[in-house]
Amino acid sequence: MNSIAKNLQHIRATLPDEVTLIAVSKTKPVSDLMEAYTEGQRIFGENKIQEMTEKWEVMPKDIAWHMIGHVQTNKVKYMAPYVTMIHAVDSLKLLKEINKQAEKHNRIIQCLLQIKIAAEDTKFGLTPQEATEILVDKEALNLPYVTIQGLMGMATFTEDTIQISKEFQKVTTLFQELQPKFPALKVLSIGMSGDYTIAINSGSTMVRVGSAIFGHRNYVK
Ligand SMILES: *Cc1c(COP(=O)(O)O)cnc(C)c1O
Repeated sequence: MNSIAKNLQHIRATLPDEVTLIAVSKTKPVSDLMEAYTEGQRIFGENKIQEMTEKWEVMPKDIAWHMIGHVQTNKVKYMAPYVTMIHAVDSLKLLKEINKQAEKHNRIIQCLLQIKIAAEDTKFGLTPQEATEILVDKEALNLPYVTIQGLMGMATFTEDTIQISKEFQKVTTLFQELQPKFPALKVLSIGMSGDYTIAINSGSTMVRVGSAIFGHRNYVK
């Protein structure tokens, strides 16, 4: 068995049934993605719209594509025909643009609000208050071609598991506070290769795992 298949089997065996696995395939060639596909993987995550679109064009059409990276408003149109979920929505402006482009294809695109939980300045995201404001915004509630399905967070890149756990707990707490008021929220997208077990202990329902499946990336994107 090849290593991608082995890695996938190992990770699946450690994930609770209710946790969805996104195979993060950024920078990896289609041949690698096809190995995961052959092993049954049908959800892939990418962080660059152009790269994702090139892969979507050549790969089987029963794959759900998740955009997990930061999204520029003017590029939404390139993925609107096919993208299933956009994880890092961080403004009402972006949400409105996704709705507008989804309407052109008569599709509903699932969205997550990215919450800033990391100490690093470089990570994008909303404060809990900003996220709540979007959820109750009259305009946002009138966007028929998007659904806000949950929250996404990225912890600081550190070995300090206590810090990671505290950061995940921030978004979990917000998720638990919001859920009774907004029953449509069902996805909590936290956890990557280095921290997905911590994320699962913090209540993750969706993990985004790249290098633990496909091996290390040769260059950072
Ligand atoms: C690259 C990336 C991942 C996966 O990272 P790994 O450490 O390789 O598992 C998850 N989420 C986001 C937003 C990413 O950009």
